This record gives sequence, structure tokens and C-alpha cells, in this order.
Amino acid sequence: MTTPARIVVVGGGITGVAATHRLTELTAGSDTEIVLLETEHRLGGKIKTSSFGGTLVDEGADAFLIRTPHAVQLATDVGLGESLVSPTSASAAIWAGRLYPIPSDLALGVPTSLMSIARSGLIPPAGLARAALDLIRPRSEIGHDSIGQWTRSRFGHHVHDRLIDALVGSIYGADTDHFSLAAVPQLHGLAEAGRSAVLAGRRMRSSAPANSGPIFGAPPLGMEQLITSAISHTLDRGAGRVQVLSGARCETLEQTPTGWLVNGIEANGVILAIPAHCAAPLLAGEVATKLRSLETADVAIVTVRVNAADWHNHLHHRSGYLVPKSQQRLVTAVSFASQKWAHLTQADGSQILRISLGRDGLPIRELDDTALIDHAIEETNEHLGISIERSGARVSRWTDAFTQYRPHHARRITEIERTLPDFLHIAGSSYRGIGIPSCIADGVRAANELLTTLAD
Ligand SMILES: Cc1cc2nc3c(=O)[nH]c(=O)nc-3n(C[C@H](O)[C@H](O)[C@H](O)COP(=O)(O)OP(=O)(O)OC[C@H]3O[C@@H](n4cnc5c(N)ncnc54)[C@H](O)[C@@H]3O)c2cc1C
Repeated sequence: MTTPARIVVVGGGITGVAATHRLTELTAGSDTEIVLLETEHRLGGKIKTSSFGGTLVDEGADAFLIRTPHAVQLATDVGLGESLVSPTSASAAIWAGRLYPIPSDLALGVPTSLMSIARSGLIPPAGLARAALDLIRPRSEIGHDSIGQWTRSRFGHHVHDRLIDALVGSIYGADTDHFSLAAVPQLHGLAEAGRSAVLAGRRMRSSAPANSGPIFGAPPLGMEQLITSAISHTLDRGAGRVQVLSGARCETLEQTPTGWLVNGIEANGVILAIPAHCAAPLLAGEVATKLRSLETADVAIVTVRVNAADWHNHLHHRSGYLVPKSQQRLVTAVSFASQKWAHLTQADGSQILRISLGRDGLPIRELDDTALIDHAIEETNEHLGISIERSGARVSRWTDAFTQYRPHHARRITEIERTLPDFLHIAGSSYRGIGIPSCIADGVRAANELLTTLAD
């Protein structure tokens, strides 16, 4: 078969949108129909932007890495390239009894200069002395594939807790003592590069291109603009061949002699661009069991407004802060959205804060919205010494949001893929990276591979 009659993509998050976009591009000039099925009445999944007191504020992801090409490439393809915005120069902090500046010369939390972490005041003298042993200790064993085990063996508890776990844990909703080192390529690269992590990090930073511009970007109307622009571009390009069915959960998936029946729709091939725990019930046998075995963590974001009069001077020029595991109750990070993004500056000087709660090992599912708001406000007030009013607070729940990449995650994914039936591909944040660029890359990979196998 060279031109399939129909392909179904299940899941309208960024992975499914990227896969649909790529399939449309690859089948241009053919009659191949592409159908995107999404349970919700909106597309975007964990990308969602909505009005908060008249300002468009993201409820989930608020930026993507622009130093890896995939998200910038998609944004450029769909006409957003020139309009992308980047965070201001406001800097982030760590809360450990008070706010400490995050040293500027870290490589994903790994110090590249012991002087600069000493100057930050964040690491107590005993922690600094232990961290210095990184320079003389023999190479660490990394076969266990746990971030915590590797970073603790290099630096001891304080640097692990206050820098590496705080930064990496907030990205993955993770407890890095139970998270795969190999799944975080930058850290894995440092662990493999040599004996000392400090020296490996220093070499990595010095070999990076100088003045390589901002690290993060976002569309000016919020992350959902990437989804809406990508879909309208795809529908234009597809000229009647592409259908987006929202409010249409995929309930049944049956294999047929010529491909698949998806909710009764015949298809030659299917991409399941949904998290593993959503894909498992659609499949049977070993593959379903393995997908179900991937654990997840819940997070929530409580968005609040702080009046200008209640915002303290020492908080200006900060983009927010992280709370290390040893200091956490439920709040793990607070983003000062109005200082992080110039376009979210409020004319009346008030501040919009996005407060993150929950992670692996810090459950929030049982708490109702009132309790989440109470925790968010009480803990943030205590951290910052301010007084946040609860009226207008918004709760965005992200249940099963982050698949936990346990040690040897990559091996588990390879085994899952080996047991997949023909002409069925899986893609998305459960498998090869949770960041938006990784999800886009995975959607594109699934589209490429499916069309290649259908053409064989
Ligand atoms: C609070 C939060 C903040 C984040 N911040 C960032 C950030 O700043 N930068 C970054 O790069 N990443 C961030 N991430 C991670 C990133 O947003 C996600 O990993 C990514 O958006 C996941 O995309 P996805 O398409 O793989 O999955 P999802 O977004 O989960 O999309 C899957 C879609 O499939 C649908 N679906 C599920 N089952 C079915 C079915 N049976 N039939 C039809 N449809 C179905 C769902 O409704 C959903 O719309 C954040 C995540 C969260 C939760």
C-alpha cells in the first residue's frame, strides 16, 4: 500500500496535533483522510489558556524550550515564529526559610562552580564541604539509573535537595530519588562525561554557543495559541482531507484484516497520542498491562492576584521560586507570572501568581478546591510574608499529569513498543520526554514511522 485511505490520530494534545500536522504534510497531494479524535470539546490537553480577570493566563504549560528545535519549528511552520515572546530578565529563587537566588551557572541544577553556590548562601557549610568532594571522588556508578542516587553520590544531600531535585523535580512533577537519570539527557550526559560532575558541567557550558539567546519562548496569547494556529494551518493545508472531531472519546479500537476500526471508523493506521493510562483500556493483553504499570503524579495550579499594595519591594525583579523537597508541604513552586512575562504586567500594579501544588509522593487528589486554595495561599503567604486575598482564586487540576519515568524507563518503553500490534503507534508525554518539544518530536516520529510501515 502506498497511499493509505485513512489514518486516525487519537488525542488532541500537542502530540496529537503535531502528528496530525505532520501526516497532513506527508500525504499532501494524496486522497488520504486524517481524522483527529479528542474527548474534550477543546483541543490542547495540558495546554490550556483562559481568561483570569481579563488577562489570558495559562492553566498548564506556559513556555517551551527554544534551544531544541521542535517547538520553534512547529510555531514557525504555522505562522507564529516572528511573534514568539520570551520571559523577562527577572530571575528565579529557591525558598529555604527565605528566598535565595539560584546561582546562574548551573547545568540543570548541577553546579559548575562551587564558589558561586557558596556565594548564593543556599547551601550550608557542611553541604558545601560535601559537594567539594565531587572534584576528588572516583567516578560514580550510574547503572541504577536514578537521578537521586547519582547526584547524592557526587554532591551529598544539600546540593541534591536544594538545587537538582528542586529544578528537575519541578519540571517532571517528580521525586528524583525515583526518577530515571537516562530520561533527562542533560544530566545523563554529565554523569557519563567523566568523573567530576562540576568539571563536566563546566565543559558543557563552555562548549555551548556564546550568547545563544533566550532559553524559553511562548506565543503572545498563551500556549493555546500554538494549538489553535497549528490546527487551523493543518485544516487549511488538508483542504477537506482532515477532520477534527472534538467531544469524541475513542471508546473502541479493534484490529481488522486491513487495519483498525476506531469507534467504528475504518482506518489503515492509528496513532494513540494519549497518555499511557488512557491508552491501556483501549488495548488488551501484555501491552495493556505494561502501559497500565507506568505510574503518574497529579499536580494543580492555583492562580491568584495580589494587590499592588501587598507586593513587597524585595519581590520585584523575581520571576518566582521553587520549594525544595525537604521544605515542601504541598506547594512546590510559585511563578510570578506578571514579572516573568512582560505581556502579563498589570496596569494597576497587581501581580498574577501561579502556585504549583503536588508531585510524585505529594498527593493532592483527595483535596477539594477550597483546600487546595487554602494550602496555596497559606504556604505562599508564609514563604513571602505577604497577604494574598482568596477571592477570584482559580484552580486548574492536572490529574495523572506526569508519567513518572522510573529507573530504566527507556527499556520499558522499548518493550512496550515491541508488543504493539501492526499499524498502531503510541506517542506523547508518557514515553520519550514530557516537555512540549519532546512531545512534538514524538508526534512527528510516530507520523513518519506509521507512513513508512504503511508504505512497505
Ligand atoms: C501544570 C503543567 C505545567 C507544565 N509546564 C510545562 C512547560 O512550561 N513547558 C513544557 O514544555 N511542558 C510543560 N508541561 C508538560 C506538557 O504540557 C505536557 O507534557 C504536554 O502538553 C503533553 O502533551 P500530550 O499531547 O502528550 O498529552 P495531553 O496534553 O495529555 O493530551 C492528550 C489528549 O488526549 C485526550 N484523550 C485522552 N484519552 C482519549 C481518548 N480515549 N479518546 C480521545 N481523546 C483522548 C485528552 O483529553 C487530551 O486532550 C506542563 C504540564 C503540566 C501539567
